[in-house]
Amino acid sequence: MSPRQWGKGDRRRLSARDYPPAVLALVDDRQGGRFCVECRALGIVTPADEPLQIDHKQPLSEGGDNHHLNLQWTCRAHNCGRGARPIGAPRRPTWARRRPREEP
Ligand SMILES: [Zn+2]
Repeated sequence: MSPRQWGKGDRRRLSARDYPPAVLALVDDRQGGRFCVECRALGIVTPADEPLQIDHKQPLSEGGDNHHLNLQWTCRAHNCGRGARPIGAPRRPTWARRRPREEP
């Protein structure tokens, strides 16, 4: 199956290694690289130890599919933090929130 057709109408929940590399490459091409789109929108740099995950723009639970046009890369914090909420203003993940100053 062509990577451009792959996943259309497929609502199975997959792990990143189940996506054909050619499909992930289409996501990379559209984004302009492999990075967390939500960190980028916030102007913050994703920590190196924060794994990138495949995120569904329209969640699987709301009728989204595994087609490459419905996929984007986000860091784990953003992916987990958003859950099934629709895309709105991205929220800062826990590691990016300013911590209160500690008492000396
Ligand atoms: Zn992120």
